[in-house]
Amino acid sequence: MPQADTPMMQQYRKIKAQYADAFLFYRVGDFYELFEDDAVKGAQILELTLTHRNKNVEHPIPMAGVPHHAVQSYIDTLVEKGYKVAISEQLEDPKLAEGMVKRDVIQLITPGTMVDDRPNHAKTNNYLTSVVLTSAGYGLGYADLATGEIETTHLVDFDSTFNELLSLRTKEVVWSGALTDQQKDYFAKANIIISKPFKPEQPSSETSFVTQNLTNEEERLSTSQLIDYLVATQKRSLAHLQIAKTYEPSSYLQMSHVVKQNLELLNSNKTQKKAGSLYWLLDQTKTAMGGRLLKQWIDRPLIRKQDVVARQEMVEALLDDYFTRESVLDALAGVYDLERLTGRIAFGSVNGRELLQLARSLKQVPLILATLRQSQSKTLLDFASQLDPMQNVAELITTALVDDPPVSTTDGGLIRPGYNDQLDRYVDVMTNGKRWVAELEAKEREQTGINTLKIGFNKVFGYYIEVTNANKANVPEERYQRKQTLTNAERYITPELKEHEHLILEAENKSTDLEHELFVKLRDQIKQYIPQLQKLGQEIATLDVLADFAVLAEKNQYTKPTINEKDQNIQIVNGRHPVVEQVLAKRDYIPNDVLMDESSNIFLITGPNMSGKSTYMRQLALIVVMAQIGSFIPAETAKLPIFDQIFTRIGAADDLISGQSTFMVEMNEANQALMHATKKSLVIFDEIGRGTATYDGMALAGAIIKYLHNNIHAKTMFATHYHELTMLDQTLTHLKNVHVGATEKNGELIFLHKVLPGAADESYGIHVAKLAGLPQPVLAEATTMLHQLEQDQHSASTKNTEQLALFDSEDTISDVEKDVISTIRSLYLADKTPLELMNTVSQWQQ
Ligand code: ADP
Repeated sequence: MPQADTPMMQQYRKIKAQYADAFLFYRVGDFYELFEDDAVKGAQILELTLTHRNKNVEHPIPMAGVPHHAVQSYIDTLVEKGYKVAISEQLEDPKLAEGMVKRDVIQLITPGTMVDDRPNHAKTNNYLTSVVLTSAGYGLGYADLATGEIETTHLVDFDSTFNELLSLRTKEVVWSGALTDQQKDYFAKANIIISKPFKPEQPSSETSFVTQNLTNEEERLSTSQLIDYLVATQKRSLAHLQIAKTYEPSSYLQMSHVVKQNLELLNSNKTQKKAGSLYWLLDQTKTAMGGRLLKQWIDRPLIRKQDVVARQEMVEALLDDYFTRESVLDALAGVYDLERLTGRIAFGSVNGRELLQLARSLKQVPLILATLRQSQSKTLLDFASQLDPMQNVAELITTALVDDPPVSTTDGGLIRPGYNDQLDRYVDVMTNGKRWVAELEAKEREQTGINTLKIGFNKVFGYYIEVTNANKANVPEERYQRKQTLTNAERYITPELKEHEHLILEAENKSTDLEHELFVKLRDQIKQYIPQLQKLGQEIATLDVLADFAVLAEKNQYTKPTINEKDQNIQIVNGRHPVVEQVLAKRDYIPNDVLMDESSNIFLITGPNMSGKSTYMRQLALIVVMAQIGSFIPAETAKLPIFDQIFTRIGAADDLISGQSTFMVEMNEANQALMHATKKSLVIFDEIGRGTATYDGMALAGAIIKYLHNNIHAKTMFATHYHELTMLDQTLTHLKNVHVGATEKNGELIFLHKVLPGAADESYGIHVAKLAGLPQPVLAEATTMLHQLEQDQHSASTKNTEQLALFDSEDTISDVEKDVISTIRSLYLADKTPLELMNTVSQWQQ
């Protein structure tokens, strides 16, 4: 027979039933307790000691506890690992409670709602996302609870929705509706947890406020679901949530999550860390807000010329004006995270020190304004004119709070003298009382003749007179009342002392209460200014990023690209790869031009391994991204069009998320470009067809190039080791061969890293082998074999030309071959397993 539950366990189970998918931290006195499965699992993850309630019964209840003052780090650990934590507090004083102490959950902390205050996380947004599916498509909303930013969009299919979730690096999505097992698998592999929506009985005021401007149904539904979830889990003021903004992924330079990873925009591929990424290179922002904004900009580069130019103008103005730039940078260094501070003000968790951080940050704004106003630049003057310095808020704070308030807001010591009359009176009573006590000590010493007599204070007995044992005989027993005996002293009280004690303690209690009350009032007053503070935060973040671009432009000798909307021509003179040039000593980097117009939509790049093909291609993509976020770029001069999308096929790493083979990933990425690229897109293909046998790899690569050439006209860089493909330039008029030069010096291969017109010649392999130190006899043998093969190939060259005729013209090819080409075109690769594809290709070969 299982043991009947105690009332406490009954209460526990009732609460736990509502939070089945969370660890329930159940407050008992000074501990938070975990019970049953939570305890077993929690003890393991958190390395706690597992104990049991009622050890003597047959089925004792597993239990593990954490002390309340250390709870935060345990919560952080669990939430970081993707779990949810429900905090159940005692809602009344156990001493005053009749029967069971009332308890309930005061907050549900989840991966998407965790506000991480650790400094090294400050430059990262944590987005909770919410998705709904209607007959019209998907709605997606997201919020950063720490800053209150909310955005929403609508999308047509699962793939684009999932891609957006990956780009947002969300850890948690609130998802209503069904998911297939495969979709669930995608989420699991991407470490995104799926949460059920909370359906409130009636809409909250937060929800109606946030969604007030939304007209699209999917956007409205997903955003409501998002805010409902926040309201239900947070159970605290969310006054900082902003009115939701809508966005269209197509109003930015579009790149899939995979493309962003391939280009190493935010993380390096090798380490998955910031170092080595474009963000790492660009981020020298002074504030956490600037750091977060820069990330957002890199995620969503602009596609309207006037928007890019507006940023460029600010960068240029700051670059040209050394004095303004340096003063702005100095002032920015004194600005704290206004956006996150407003979050803490809304939650009610802000303390006195943080309010002072806010005030000190605001005091930097007039300095910024004064510098900008001194500048000659109209752009900077215009920027200054929209800044509201909000000095009234700074005043409110500095007149109320002392210069160095304690962390606690409930123990007094916060409020400046002179701020509140009543408080000043309490303080007077306290100081007078304490002076009276000091005087009493002197008086008693004199009267009793005991020079070591002391008046002390402790929390249990209050004020007391202490006399050492040696002087006990001189104590006036008729006046002193014995209170406590220590080993070497005796403590006494007198009625007079107790009377003053009462006055002092009463004043002390009242004054700490009043201080807290005044603090809360101040906080609520500042709460009214949250929208303005958020706007100011955004403006300062913008200035921070643009000043950062100016600093980088000067330091790294970047140039302003001219944005050209007339055509899609690219004209980069002496461009450099921004990250590689930093890693190499700068003078070692060999700059390269990119000159592409309509007659050279496609660059077919050949050259030995390690010569610099992929660096050259990535260089172009990174320059495009930098230009479209408004930054200056590593080049001598540049004229660039606006690109709408970037597609890549880079690297050989298997796609970890979907667990596909290398070849399948290659084909999928290629397919994305073939399906979605436009004339205005940039396509970067590095070594396509490697993951399969030579001939079908080459055939696919050739067919893909021809399709891009004839049907898409996107600017394309295509690196290949299939030398045969270089003959395509004879038939494809917009294709140009280029190669990365290498030369021989004293029998050694020297990479020039210089991109030159025409195709590379073929025989570098043996030189590379020599560089690698292969034994002389092997090299000699290889050279002989090479000559042999070259002769063979020469005699077979007629046959070879026939094979390449596949790409020449469709008129001269057989019906069977036409069939093959049309199958290649219409093949929906995402549907196929690698095995199916291999079967298809082997059918073609036959
Ligand atoms: P490939 O794609 O041809 O195999 P990579 O582009 O990976 O070659 O380049 C190999 C290495 O050569 C790079 O890691 C870099 O150190 C160096 N490199 C490439 N391009 C340049 C350049 N323009 N100037 C100097 N070094 C370069």
